[in-house]
Amino acid sequence: MPEIIHLLSEKVANQIAAGEVVQRPSSALKELLENSLDAGADEIQILCREGGKSLIQVNDNGMGMSPSDAILCFSRHATSKILHSEDLFHIQTMGFRGEALASIAAVSQVKLKTRHHEDDLGTEVRIEGSRVLEQQEISCPVGTSMEIRNLFYNVPARRNFLKSDMQELSHLIAELERISLSYPLVFFSFFHNGKELMHLPKGSLVQRILHLFGNSYSEKIVPVQELTDLVEISGYIGKPEFSKKSRREQFFHLNGRFIRDPYLHHAVMNAYQEWIPAGTSPFYSIHLKVSPEKVDINVHPSKTEIKFQDEKMIYTILQTAVKRSLGKFHLTPQIDFEGETGFGEMSVLARNMPVQAPVSHFNPDYNPFESSQSEKPSSFPQNLEPSPLFTEYKAPENKFQEEETMNFRLFQEEEDAKLEERILNSAQDSQSLIQIQKEFMVTSIFSGLLILDQQATHERILFERYLKVFSGKIQPSQQTLFPQTYAFSTQDFALIQELLPDIKMLGFDIREFGKNTFIVEGIPSDLQIHEERSIFEELLSNFKENMRLEPLHPRENLARSLSKRASIKPGKHLTNEEMRLLIDELFACESPMYSPEGKPTYITLSLSEIKKKFKE
Ligand code: ADP
Ligand code: MG
Repeated sequence: MPEIIHLLSEKVANQIAAGEVVQRPSSALKELLENSLDAGADEIQILCREGGKSLIQVNDNGMGMSPSDAILCFSRHATSKILHSEDLFHIQTMGFRGEALASIAAVSQVKLKTRHHEDDLGTEVRIEGSRVLEQQEISCPVGTSMEIRNLFYNVPARRNFLKSDMQELSHLIAELERISLSYPLVFFSFFHNGKELMHLPKGSLVQRILHLFGNSYSEKIVPVQELTDLVEISGYIGKPEFSKKSRREQFFHLNGRFIRDPYLHHAVMNAYQEWIPAGTSPFYSIHLKVSPEKVDINVHPSKTEIKFQDEKMIYTILQTAVKRSLGKFHLTPQIDFEGETGFGEMSVLARNMPVQAPVSHFNPDYNPFESSQSEKPSSFPQNLEPSPLFTEYKAPENKFQEEETMNFRLFQEEEDAKLEERILNSAQDSQSLIQIQKEFMVTSIFSGLLILDQQATHERILFERYLKVFSGKIQPSQQTLFPQTYAFSTQDFALIQELLPDIKMLGFDIREFGKNTFIVEGIPSDLQIHEERSIFEELLSNFKENMRLEPLHPRENLARSLSKRASIKPGKHLTNEEMRLLIDELFACESPMYSPEGKPTYITLSLSEIKKKFKE
């Protein structure tokens, strides 16, 4: 079927290729930092301008590259890491490996200066939109300096996606927070528009936390630790009274890399449940060590989402560890671990599995601030008072002004109301998309073919949109022509009653109307009117089905259930504009690769795979 392969204009191909690896300056920064860390650097300097839009520069003291590698590293699938996939950063070497620099170089102006530690002279390479302009010998220190100028300079549609400098800066800072928390033994310094905003000396994890978030955190956090055969948990969690509206200060690191995991997040939140007001979130920086074979590598090419083999057990251990830590510091009443199931009523796991109390080891002499060499406390402090140790340590003044931090963080959380408009504007070149069997969308990308499942794509977009609704913006509702009343079983009635505030936030205009009855007067504006009954019934049945399968936070469950109901189904014809919009919106998502249920939203077929098929 050669006619399905429409070659995109280079402009759009770049746009989508960049969407695969680089969505914004912070994702480029992430790739550069990971490369520096992979190269063994322990001192990294970052220089950015205009939120990273005009400059992202990363200088490291890693092992550097030879003159030939300095060119090779920009070709797609060039990687030096395939050889040592067994190393400590097992997880880190998964995903789009060997793609990052090629993608970045396709959409920016790059200058690389590098010197391999065995060489006397270094190399400078200039490359622009994938074209090598210049390579020359230079003298420079051992290590690598990668300078990325004018990201998306040749892809105006992508450039339009970028937000204000402040917002992009906020993303850069968020990325640096995540990475620097997993590498407290690496020095980072971050300059923006010539001003040093972050200065993070090498130290222990707690020192890193204080440098990032301010010395006042010494009184706001307590250590958490649990060592079991399955998982080693260590890190710090916030005292409940300091929980905030924002979810920004929550970090999981798995085997040294930042991950997002709603399931584990739920475990932590459950432990805090009774101690923090609804809608607020505690600080946590929790490191998990799990043997790499126990992490499902097929599920995390996006590299921040993973699947554990024993996730239910890890859930229990984590939740128990957090409760135990809070309890130890007299922040929660002492918990009876023998009888503690660790699960709230939303969960079904407690019924399905035996739960063992994890064993923890105590070291009465442990002082989390003692050693600047050890990132992870080796054991719990026996001291049961809210630790006086936390007040003894004074980190050097945090150079990052508190108010400034606040401003950046506010920007991060702000909803960009104009985003959709911009996406529409960017959806210009649309003749190169094709829909097959009214179920899949196909387009050509840099590396080959991109095939998207229209329903999974739309579910992911809606899911993230609904989650955002919960963080503040009310979904506009549309009035139904004839308000309908629905009678429910007592059980369903009670469930809906409990969920009512959240259901309303999603845009349903609904209220109680007599015994076991609700009246629906409006539904979310992106749903078909006249379908109220089935929408509502399916929302409820999806919700209950999810409850049975997984212990989700009710809001996440609602967002999932509604996105499933409201998404575009197979069989719906899509115009080019609609497809373009879907693809653009998908790649603007936080986790574009999977539907909320974990099904892939798209697959790619690389040119080499295609070529192979013709040779067979
Ligand atoms: P990957 O990291 O998946 O290998 P990249 O495109 O990010 O792919 O990098 C390609 C290669 O370039 C790396 O495998 C590495 O050999 C080399 N490289 C990139 N950045 C650095 C750096 N800062 N120091 C040393 N080598 C680097
Ligand atoms: Mg890399």
